[in-house]
Amino acid sequence: MSGVAAAAVVAAGAGFLIGYEVVPDRATDSASRPAGTAVSPTPERPSASTVPSVPPLARPWPDRPVVRLSYDVAADHRSVSGVEDVTFTPDRKVCGRLVFRAWPNKPGTALFGGSLTIHRVSVGGRPARPAVHSAGGVPGRPGTLVDVPLRDCVAAGHSVAVRLSFDVVMATGSGERVGTNRDGEMWFASAFPVLAWERGHGWMTDSAVDVFGESDGSEEFKLALDVVAPGQDSVLGTGRALPTTEGPRPDTVRHRFAADSVRNVAVAVGGYRLTDRVISGVRVHVGVSDNGAKTGAQGWLAKIELEIPRLERYFGRFPYDDLWVTVIPDTTGIEFPGAIFYGDTPPSEVGTGDLVGHELAHMWFYSLVGDDQGRDPWLDEAFAQYGQALADGREGGYLGPLTVPPFAQNRVGAPMTYWARDPNDYGIGVYRQGAHMLFEARTKAGPARWDAAIRTYIARNAHRIARPSDLEAAVRQLPGAVETLRAYGAVRS
Ligand SMILES: [Zn+2]
Repeated sequence: MSGVAAAAVVAAGAGFLIGYEVVPDRATDSASRPAGTAVSPTPERPSASTVPSVPPLARPWPDRPVVRLSYDVAADHRSVSGVEDVTFTPDRKVCGRLVFRAWPNKPGTALFGGSLTIHRVSVGGRPARPAVHSAGGVPGRPGTLVDVPLRDCVAAGHSVAVRLSFDVVMATGSGERVGTNRDGEMWFASAFPVLAWERGHGWMTDSAVDVFGESDGSEEFKLALDVVAPGQDSVLGTGRALPTTEGPRPDTVRHRFAADSVRNVAVAVGGYRLTDRVISGVRVHVGVSDNGAKTGAQGWLAKIELEIPRLERYFGRFPYDDLWVTVIPDTTGIEFPGAIFYGDTPPSEVGTGDLVGHELAHMWFYSLVGDDQGRDPWLDEAFAQYGQALADGREGGYLGPLTVPPFAQNRVGAPMTYWARDPNDYGIGVYRQGAHMLFEARTKAGPARWDAAIRTYIARNAHRIARPSDLEAAVRQLPGAVETLRAYGAVRS
C-alpha cells in the first residue's frame, strides 16, 4: 500500500489513485512517449534453460520474537482493548530501553480520531513506566514511539518478556488501517505496540509523517492471536484460523489464529459475509459487508485467482497458506502479511485494474521480504508496482520516457520524511519512477538474468528486513543494473 492523497496525485499528474494506490496514468505515458514509438512488452521470457539456479528461501529467524496478542472488541465497534505479551531474544546486546511503536498515533489516523494508548507495562514481571515520544505524532496526542526502560541489559541470545496493555480507538473516515464505519464494521492493523527491532542493526526510530503511507518496520514474529468479539460478528484475522471458543462474557466469542512468522497483524470485525476458496494451495478468505459491496466476493476471488499464479511465476510460491481479504470503505488497498484491506471498488476496476495485483505483489515485497517502510519505502512500493505490471504483462507502461517533478527526480531511495515535505510527489517519485527504474534495469541486464537475480534477492532476504544494499548485492553482476539503481537515487554506493 501506501499513501498519497488521491486529489494530490491527480493534481500532480502522476497517475491516478484508487485510495492509496498510485496506478499508472496511461494517458500521461502515451503523451510523454515520442510519437510513433511503439512500446512492446519485453520479448525475452525466463525459461528453464536460461534461468540461473535460485537458492532456497532463507528460513525465519530461529530466535524471532514470540507475540501473544489478545484483543477484546467493544460492543459498539469503536475501540478494542488489548494485551500483548512479547518474548524478545535480541541478536545483539540491548541496554537501557526497548522501543515499541504506536502507529495508530500517526497523523493519518490520529487526525481522524484514532489512537493507541498504553496503560500498563511490565518487563520480566516487574512494572515499568514507559516514556512516550511524539516522533512525528500529533502535538497533544499520544506519541508514536514508546521507550520501555530496561533495568538490566539483555545479552545477545537471552530473552526478555514484556507485557503491555493498551486501548485502540478506531478512526472514522480516514481510509486508514484503523477504522470503523456507520454499519459497525471495523478493521485494525499495526494496532498494537510494535517491537521496533531490526536484526543486525538495532532500533528503528523513524519519524511518523503526515503522508498516507507506511512508515513502520518489524521483524517477523511467531504469533498467537485472540479476538473476543460480539457473538454475531464475523472476524477475519491473520494466519491460520483455530476453532473458536466461548468468550469471557455472555454473547461473546473468542476467535483464535496462529501464524508461524509474520511482521504485522490485521483484523476485521463486524457484519462481514465470509467466502473461502483455495487458490494455488492458498486458502483465500474474502469478507464483504453484509450491507453489500460494489463487487461481491466472487468478483474479488476471480481476480485473485488470476493474479496469484502470474505473480508466482516470477517471484516463487505465494508466501502464506492463508490470505484474509477484507473489503472496507474509504480506502483502496493496504497490505499486511497474509492479509489485505481492499477498498469497496467497482467490478470493472477489480477485474481489469492494477489494484488487486499490486497488493498481492506486496506479499513478496514488504511481507516476505520486509523493509523499514519509513527509511526505504521504495523497497516495497516500487517493487509492488513493478511486480504487478510484470505479472500482468503491462511493462510497456513503464518503458517509455517519464516526466518526473524536480523534487522527486532521481530520489527513488528517499525516506518518508523526505516525501512528507511534498506528499504530492510520493506517488510518482517512488511507485512510478521506482517501477520505471526497475524495468529499465531489467532491460539492460537482460530479463531472464534479472528475474533470476530478483528471485535470489527474495530467497536470501525472505523473513528479514532488507536494505537497498541487499538488492544491490543480488544484481551486482548484471550489466547496467547497479548503475541504473544509482542513477535513480535508489542506492548510494
Ligand atoms: Zn503499495
